Amino acid sequence: MRAALSFLGLLCLVAGSLAQSGPEIASYFKTDLSPASAVYLPSESLFTQETTQRWNAFSSPSYAVSVKPASDEDVQKIIHYAFMHNISFLATGGGHGYSATLGTVQSGIEMDLGHFNNYSINAEANTITVGGSIHFRNITGPLYAAGKEWRATLGGGVGPYGGLHGLQIDSLQSVRMVTGAGNLITVSATQHPDLFWVMRGAGFNFGVVTSATYQVYPYTNNGQAMNADFRFNASANASLYEFARSYTGKQPDAFSIDIAIAYNENFGGTYLFANFIYAGPLSEGLSLIQPILALKPFQQNITMIPWSLIETTSKFGTDAAACIKGNYHSVWGLNLYQIDVPTLSSAVEYMDAMFKANKGFRESFLAIDMYATRVTQSVPDEETAYPYRSAVARFLLDVGFIDPSLSTNASNVGRGARALFIPTSGASTKNIEVYVNYGHGDEGPLGWYSERKMPRLTELKKRYDPNGLFSHYNAIRRTYNVPKV
Ligand SMILES: Cc1cc2nc3c(=O)[nH]c(=O)nc-3n(C[C@H](O)[C@H](O)[C@H](O)COP(=O)(O)OP(=O)(O)OC[C@H]3O[C@@H](n4cnc5c(N)ncnc54)[C@H](O)[C@@H]3O)c2cc1C
Repeated sequence: MRAALSFLGLLCLVAGSLAQSGPEIASYFKTDLSPASAVYLPSESLFTQETTQRWNAFSSPSYAVSVKPASDEDVQKIIHYAFMHNISFLATGGGHGYSATLGTVQSGIEMDLGHFNNYSINAEANTITVGGSIHFRNITGPLYAAGKEWRATLGGGVGPYGGLHGLQIDSLQSVRMVTGAGNLITVSATQHPDLFWVMRGAGFNFGVVTSATYQVYPYTNNGQAMNADFRFNASANASLYEFARSYTGKQPDAFSIDIAIAYNENFGGTYLFANFIYAGPLSEGLSLIQPILALKPFQQNITMIPWSLIETTSKFGTDAAACIKGNYHSVWGLNLYQIDVPTLSSAVEYMDAMFKANKGFRESFLAIDMYATRVTQSVPDEETAYPYRSAVARFLLDVGFIDPSLSTNASNVGRGARALFIPTSGASTKNIEVYVNYGHGDEGPLGWYSERKMPRLTELKKRYDPNGLFSHYNAIRRTYNVPKV
């Protein structure tokens, strides 16, 4: 039966002997896939209307055809076809991944998982089962209505509620997936536990997840959180960063800190933007941010909101603009194991000079996000592929622009900013250590996954993706050279 097909046995065949054009691929899938599936060529207007567009146009993939499978068996058939014809392909979930490595897919097959967008909440068991392309915004409302809270992603998953519940991968209970070897399997702590280890930190390197079950949590503080947004003159930077530094190692679980350097003519040019979320009573939240109120922000907004509205309401409601798709972004990240105030103050000067010199980059921001790590660190390092549980914060620079001729300049700006942070990041290795979903794409496997995890990841890559089909997003290679010491 084709559904059970594993193409490991086909390794001896010569794949890719005949190049296939987009229309040829489309016509094959139109007859071979299930009736509810869909196939689009880039020349069709429905291509952009019916398929998930990417957030980032910088170093983005290009496709000869986009296929929307409707069943697990369709997913198997697409992987099998891509292997047999040696055509690169990429699964698309939300299209928010921005690593420059995605540009290695050119004239490939897009496997748009848009039909895998179902969900079901089991309030009694405290679980949610979601399709492989579920959008967070589609389930926050239903979860809130059920008195629960949750969020998830394959690479790690950091966010304001991470202090309470740890990394989002730590809530994963099981996945249904098609591996790179073509097998449709269920993966959990008891079924294929080695792959379950991988799926929590490096999942996009091993196959396509068609559904996943996560633990959810009874909501905290009756579902209400304090959201506090501020804008400050750039001159407040040392005090603001000192406030963040003072919480290193003792950040309350329910308290998150996010500080960004941005630009707006109306605010006098370069300014600082801070967001604090506290999943608890307003009086407790206000007492945590008391030193901030004394710093005289020129704008502030402090409200109690349902946790489900954090995404759309926090940061003065700027999320909608941040999620606009199709612009160019050269994004750079780095783990921080300490908050070094002089480095952050230099970053303000760096960004100020950059904004003044480059009008085309004035939508950019340089942020640090800082979530409590107690729960994240309560999970032993060896339990998951995710390697960086001791990072206390992350540096993230989005050099945003609309004129593609600025790409090289944008990368120079990004690389320069990251270089500012590397010497004082507190990393214990010489690798550019970065949370994989914040990676620019040039850090390499040791930076995304660590030396510690690489030998096991490489072994599992050979077993579950023996043909290296999943190699376009911060990839793990099937061979790995042990670094010289
Ligand atoms: C505006 C914005 C805000 C963000 N905020 C956060 C944040 O708060 N916290 C955080 O941790 N990260 C954040 N990120 C990063 C985000 O977690 C990653 O970009 C993540 O990969 C996005 O998932 P996606 O489904 O949209 O990815 P896509 O771009 O669709 O895919 C990224 C990679 O995952 C693979 N993939 C997608 N779906 C599947 C699947 N079902 N099975 C197997 N592989 C799959 C793709 O093939 C690709 O290789 C943010 C990114 C953006 C652009």
